Formats: sequence, structure tokens, C-alpha cells
Amino acid sequence: MLDQSVLQLSGVGERMRETLEEMGIYTIEDFLFYFPFRYDYHEVKPLTELVHNEKATIEGEVIGEPSLTFYGKKKSRLMLNLQVEHFAVKAVMFNRAFAKKQLQAGDTVTVTGKWDQHRLQITVSQFKKGKAKNQTPIQPVYSLKGNLKLPTLRKWMGKAIDEYGSYLPEILPSSYLDTYKLPHRVEALYAMHFPESRTRLKHAKRRFVYEEFLLFQLKMQILRKMKREATTGNSQNYDEEAVNHFTDQLPFELTSAQSKALQEILKDMQSHYRMNRLLQGDVGSGKTAVAAIALYATITSGKQGSLMVPTEILAEQHHQSLSELFEGKANVVLLTGSVKGKKRKEILTQIEENEADIIIGTHALIQDEVRFHDLALSIIDEQHRFGVNQRRALRDKGLNPDVLFMTATPIPRTLAITAFGDMDVSIIDQMPAGRKEVETYWIKEQMLDRVLTFIKKEVDNGHQAYVISPLIEESDTLDIQNAVDIYNQLTQYYDGDLKVGLMHGRLSAEEKEEIMKQFADNEVQVLVSTTVVEVGVNVPNATVMLIYDAERFGLSQLHQLRGRVGRGSEQSYCILLADPKGDVGKERMRIMSETSNGFELSEQDLQLRGPGDFFGRKQSGVPEFKVADMVHDYRALETARQDAKEIIDHNLLSTNEEYNELLKRLEKDPILQGQILD
Ligand code: ADP
Ligand code: MG
Repeated sequence: MLDQSVLQLSGVGERMRETLEEMGIYTIEDFLFYFPFRYDYHEVKPLTELVHNEKATIEGEVIGEPSLTFYGKKKSRLMLNLQVEHFAVKAVMFNRAFAKKQLQAGDTVTVTGKWDQHRLQITVSQFKKGKAKNQTPIQPVYSLKGNLKLPTLRKWMGKAIDEYGSYLPEILPSSYLDTYKLPHRVEALYAMHFPESRTRLKHAKRRFVYEEFLLFQLKMQILRKMKREATTGNSQNYDEEAVNHFTDQLPFELTSAQSKALQEILKDMQSHYRMNRLLQGDVGSGKTAVAAIALYATITSGKQGSLMVPTEILAEQHHQSLSELFEGKANVVLLTGSVKGKKRKEILTQIEENEADIIIGTHALIQDEVRFHDLALSIIDEQHRFGVNQRRALRDKGLNPDVLFMTATPIPRTLAITAFGDMDVSIIDQMPAGRKEVETYWIKEQMLDRVLTFIKKEVDNGHQAYVISPLIEESDTLDIQNAVDIYNQLTQYYDGDLKVGLMHGRLSAEEKEEIMKQFADNEVQVLVSTTVVEVGVNVPNATVMLIYDAERFGLSQLHQLRGRVGRGSEQSYCILLADPKGDVGKERMRIMSETSNGFELSEQDLQLRGPGDFFGRKQSGVPEFKVADMVHDYRALETARQDAKEIIDHNLLSTNEEYNELLKRLEKDPILQGQILD
């Protein structure tokens, strides 16, 4: 019944069907679930309860003649004097000259609009003659197309619920409705369209939020289970004793968060299913250390491991540090775009013939010419920069390794469990002992001189500084020009007192390496750079991070940059030079100065930008919900996740009658079709 065409609704003809299709409505069920995108509350309240600058509805009597003025082209302003309670209130209506004829002194009107508390004035967006009483208190607002008008939609909706409501199955087991005190499906549906009170509407929304999240989480967990079961035969039999020994030899003891993450990873590697895990942790929390141990485990099982990073500089740094770490234990090779000619051939051969144990590189690693002998572990650093495509490319190469994604952009929990619902997540939420929090300041241009003096002082004390030039999106040339300008200015300013270096993306690999080496060796004290240094570069002696035009960067990116300092035992500083025009920009600077915890910061970033923007639209893969909002309703999301886990773990969908409707519903999903019961 419910999947019949909307033409079955009386009153809907061919023309209207087209309009409804434009709104994404094909079936009766689509129609029933076409929810209002907003509700207006037209409740008349005493004037004293109205809030300045917010929407209000008032009822009053027209005093005197309304005055009408014309201005500009076809623009008009109609002013009414209203008596409301004992007050004289002005109601201003723009471009509704026609209303003047309809109104006379003594008429009662109801107006809705923005309330100005100081001038006792309302700027009217809706008005009607007569008292407020015969108006619905809560007005649903739908997004409508073509000729479809609200009253028509409401009429049809009422009929549709009457006629077809009884065919709508309750899909949630009744125990869930009891536990969470959720209204029945039809009842909730009715309240979404015809809310009789705020309370009913609230519960109706709560119900659909939960329903949407539960279905989504069930889908994710089913997919995850399917993936795990589909891959067999890649358990890594690593040498546990050797791995323990290796870990003990490190110059530090793992934090308990690191140990826990490591155990989770090793367990995945040992098991027959393919690891698909995300390792999250703030910059400097020791993810790379954990990755190195995992790579070592792979070598002890006689297989190959790879580490893929976003930039050549990073690849080179990792290559160097891992070569040292694995000296005498493994052959670590580097493969980037800059490795060319004979050297490249040699490395490709080593990879193919299993002479290379650990392969470090950029996305050059997933090119066709690279043929691994036996790749068992693939670690991908800074996962969000690679996006979904590179992940897939690895799979398309026919490789079936355990995969570990690492990200220093702590992804808000809310997003991690949705966008990555089919992934396992390990979190390092603890810093190695002895780290000092980086002090962060937001300053304006006028104070730049003082900052430069401060940098000089730090350098005199033996420290170093990064200076990040403004980010010009979509223009490499301007980006570099900026860096060059700042480099010239600072060179002149410091006039030989200290050495300034310059780093940007157009330098050759050798030049980059040279300048990084000079900075690492403290031959260069102030390094001016574009954001190429953003990720992963490790110079513990640097204590100042100065960022020009900080408002151009997102919070996560600023946090990444800040993570370049505070890596040693000295107090470090991050200075944001910014003059943001908008509120969001100011808010970002404020958050940066007050929040040092990456997870907390990412939650706030999410609130500011919304999930779509968090990963960049293209690769977001963030699901859209009709009623639910991942940020706002994250508690419900967490509850739904737990419930879904329980349902899947106990196989309730296929064994328990109560879950039958839920199962039927899921089986309609094109991705899951026919797979759940197998
Ligand atoms: P991340 O990859 O998360 O940015 P790294 O693994 O590069 O962090 O670690 C940052 C620095 O901290 C490195 O110099 C590393 O040697 C050191 N480090 C890592 N784990 C610990 C630990 N448990 N105790 C002390 N220092 C550590
Ligand atoms: Mg790292």
C-alpha cells in the first residue's frame, strides 16, 4: 500500500505528481515522511515576556489611520499603531501597501515578526486580521515547489495519514518504546505534521532521531561484520617475544593509552580478518611510535609493511628515523616522486623481491609500477588528506593487507562513530609525561613588533621559531610570494642577529631537505614557511609558532600547526596574528586561545562548521538524516550505536520475532539487500 504512487491520493493529478517528484516524493510513504524543515511558534505572549530581536506574535487593536510611505522603486512601508495590553506598539510592514485598504481603526490584528524591545516595535513578517485564537499554535513550515501551497499539502497530509497510517508498521521493538518512552510510529508521524503541543512535537522528533540513528548504526555494523567475515587468511604470526623486546628497548615507556592502542592493533593483525582501524591522537601523542612497533611485528612474521604519508618531507623524515630505529633489523626504503632513475628501479626491484621490509613513501606507493612481494600491513598517515579514493586504490591493486589509518586531527567522537562506523577506532587521548601545554595568544597586526622582539629573546635563549605565511587558497604562486615577502622582511628586521630560513612547496626535494636539516641543527633559527611544514616535522627545540593571517586557517589546521611546537621540555608559544571580520573567525581565535585538547577543539570545530565541512564536501561521506542532527543529537547517536551493537552481536534480527519489522526495513536498503540473513 505504502509504496503506491502519490497519484493514489485523491486530489493529486499528473501535474502535481511532477511537482511532488521534484520534491523527491514518489510514493505515499515518501509523502508521509516529508517532514517540515522548521516550525513557527505563533503563541501570543504578554509583552513583558517577549525577547528583544527574536520572533514574536502579538495581538492588538489598530489605533488611528495606518500610514503608508513609498520609497525607492516600488518599495513601501506601512506603519500601524497598535494598542497591545496598555501599551502603544508600532507595527512596521514592508512592501504590503495593499494591507492599508483592509485595515481600519478599531480592527483587531495578529502580527508575527521581529520584536524590538527598546522601541516597542515589531517588524512584521506575517499578519492576519482577527484574533490569534483561531490560529494553530505551532505552524509547520515545509519546503514547497511549484504550485503546491501549504494549505493543500496539509489537507492531503491529513487524508493520507487517515487512509494509510494503519499500514505503517511499528519497526521498533516495543521494549525500546517502553525504555526510551518513545511514541508509536504513526502517532509520532501525526505529531510531526500536526503538532498539538511542543511536548508532543519534541517526543515525535526524539522518536525519529532515534529511529534514523538506529537504522544507520545497524547498517554500519552489518557492513562491518560482513567485511570482517569476507576476509580470511591474513593473520600475521608475529614473534611476540621479539616485539616485547623491541618495545622495551625504546628510550621511553609507552603511555597506557599507547599500550592499549598497540594491543588492539596487534590483536587485529593476528586475527584472520583484515584490520580496518583508525588510530586517532593529538600531534605528539605518540602514534608514530605505536606504528613503528606494529611495523616491527610485521617484519618478524617475514612480511612487508608500508607507511604512506602526505608529503615528501614527512616521508623523508620518517625514512630517516625509522632507518635508525630498525638499524640491523630491517631494510627500510623510501619511495617518493623525487626518487628517480636508477635509484627508483633499484627500490622497485627490492620491493618486488622482498628485499625491502618497510616501504615509506607518499602516494607514489599506490602507483601501478609498485609491486609488493607480500604486503601485510599498510599504515596510512593523515588519513583525511588522502580521502577515500586512495584507500580504494590500495584495495584495487588487489592488495589485502591489514590497514591502519592514523590521524592527528582528532575526529570528534560523534563523527568517528558515524562516518567511520564501519571502522574500528583506537584513541590515544594522553600525552607522554613531562609535556607542557603550548600557550596560545591571539594578537593584532599592531603588536607584531613586540612578537618579533619576543622571538629574538627566545632565540637568544637557544630556541627556535616557525613563522607561517598566509594561506592563499587556489594560488600556489601567491602563497609562495607571501612567504618570500615575509622572509625578506624578517631578514631585514633581524639584520644578521639570527639566521632566517625559507621553505615552500616549489623548492626541490634536496633544497627542502637541506633547509630542514639546517633548522633541525639550529643553523637556522627562524623558519619562514608555507603550510608544507604543517604535518609531522619534528624539531623539539622550536618553541614559537607564529601564524600570519590565522583567520584563513581552519581550527584543525591551526591545531596541527601549533603541534609543531611544545615537543620538547621547554615552554612553547603559539601566536595567532589575525584580524577576523566575521563572528565565526573571532570565535575560532577565541577557541584556539582557550582550548589545547585536540578532541575538545574538534568538537567545537564541528559545531562551528557542521559535519559536511569537516572533511571537505567531496570526501565527506557523512550521511544525511531527515530529522536527526549528528552534532546536536550525539547522545541519541551513542545510545543507538550501543543498541545496534547489541542487536548484531546477539543476532537478534534473524532470531527474534520482535525485530522482524526492523529487519524488513533494513533489507530494503540497496546496499544490504539480501545479505543480512546469510
Ligand atoms: P605523533 O606521531 O602522534 O605525532 P610521535 O610518535 O611522533 O607522535 O611522538 C612524538 C615524540 O614523542 C617523538 O619524539 C617520540 O619519540 C616521543 N614519544 C612517543 N611516545 C612517547 C612516550 N610514551 N614517552 C615519551 N616520549 C614519547
Ligand atoms: Mg606522526
